[in-house]
Amino acid sequence: MIMSSVYQSTRDPKLKATSREAILKGLAPDGGLYIWPQMAENPIDLEKICSSDYMQTAQTVLGKLLPDFTEEEIRECVKGAYTDNFDDPALTPVQDVDGVQVLELFHGPTSAFKDMALTILPYLMRTALSDTDEKVMILTATSGDTGKAALSGFEDVEQTAICVFYPDGKVSDIQYRQMATQKGSNTAVFAVRGNFDDCQTRVKELFMDEELNKYAADHQVRLSSANSINIGRLIPQVVYYFDAYRQLVNNGTIQLGDEVSFSVPTGNFGDVLAGYYAKLLGLPVKKFYVASNSNNVLTDFIKTGVYDKNRPFVQTISPSMDILVSSNLERFLYFLSGNDSEQVASWMKQLAEEGRYDIGAENLARMRELFDADFLSDDETRQVIKDVYDKTGVILDPHTAIGYKMAADHKEEGPVVAVSTASPYKFSADVLKSLGIEGLSEWEALHKLDELNQDNLPPRLAELEDLPILHDQKLTADDMKQAVMDACERLYD
Ligand SMILES: *Cc1c(COP(=O)(O)O)cnc(C)c1O
Repeated sequence: MIMSSVYQSTRDPKLKATSREAILKGLAPDGGLYIWPQMAENPIDLEKICSSDYMQTAQTVLGKLLPDFTEEEIRECVKGAYTDNFDDPALTPVQDVDGVQVLELFHGPTSAFKDMALTILPYLMRTALSDTDEKVMILTATSGDTGKAALSGFEDVEQTAICVFYPDGKVSDIQYRQMATQKGSNTAVFAVRGNFDDCQTRVKELFMDEELNKYAADHQVRLSSANSINIGRLIPQVVYYFDAYRQLVNNGTIQLGDEVSFSVPTGNFGDVLAGYYAKLLGLPVKKFYVASNSNNVLTDFIKTGVYDKNRPFVQTISPSMDILVSSNLERFLYFLSGNDSEQVASWMKQLAEEGRYDIGAENLARMRELFDADFLSDDETRQVIKDVYDKTGVILDPHTAIGYKMAADHKEEGPVVAVSTASPYKFSADVLKSLGIEGLSEWEALHKLDELNQDNLPPRLAELEDLPILHDQKLTADDMKQAVMDACERLYD
């Protein structure tokens, strides 16, 4: 095994780590994110990709970016994650929808794109733990989607357990049932009185809590997180950019070597950053279109070079993109600035202190060669859902609709892939409202949408209404620490 510490903090080149360590730690000790500065020196053989399949591509990409994992280890992780979990044989099929290539990333266990990474992260973590007796306890605060995808991924994975906290009464009925019916001897789910910020703030405090960390360490448990700053979540997302390209070559839409653009509905900048990584590894990308909702901090940043989070937070019908601080942008800034950690550290300090930084004209010009951005209001998003349905019969979810619109606006300039991040069923009521059908309960809406959508409701959503509730504990934020301690005892006995 090569134990090369190729990863380092975006803010300090002295803080190095192997990919195993980076996966177990999540965040670097100085608050920076782990990156591999020289990753672009290891390009991927595109011709080889085009004659393989999703699993082989995953093996190739993960093999490159996780150099201290053996081939055999990666094969086991890929097999565990992608063999039985997806309801489409292509895993991430591309579909031509009126001249836009829609890349469907929602065929996994929870019907949202976070499954692409959260099905494999638990295997990567367990592999990283394999030379120790240590165990991992994942703590996750969720506003809905991430919690279920993480629970489903970690369910019954050895040496791991997971506690999910969601705001009581503030998630949709479908999301509630997805979490409360979760099976697995290593899972725990808690409704917390308060809002998402209360859950998230408390979880962040728990990671720093000395007493809790000591308690966990005494039980040989390491606290860790499953959010998108972890390289174990980011790297698996690089795979589907290559696989989309392979599909387009194989179905004759493009020829090997042609440039393609990608339009990506964006929140934390993780998905689009994975595309940028694919580009660094040699994928011929012309443009990335960064698509946002009314929380359009990234639109302004990509147009002006000024990142300014000092603005009202808006609740939209694309809630997974309701974000004002896009954590993964820091990794892009590192590469954009020419691997200048000091510069990145200074921008991040300004962001923490003033909520704002300016990357300057030169960096802006360089960014704009590859990136463009736009945003849609909720009303505009509903209009896109209706127009696409009327014209093609395809029903898009609100997140996907935003990216689709940007792709459609640029489809005359060359082939463009719109990344589809969620099944419309997860947002049935809002989708139906866009189509002019209102006043249904969430479950009625789900079945009505199934009627309109050729009866293709995934069984895992259909069965939810009848599954037994397995998690019904309600807590205050103050009780969360004790809940994690109890879970350490209970889930690891
Ligand atoms: C998380 C999520 C996004 C945003 O992805 P980022 O990686 O945070 O940019 C978009 N759409 C859906 C449905 C999501 O769940």
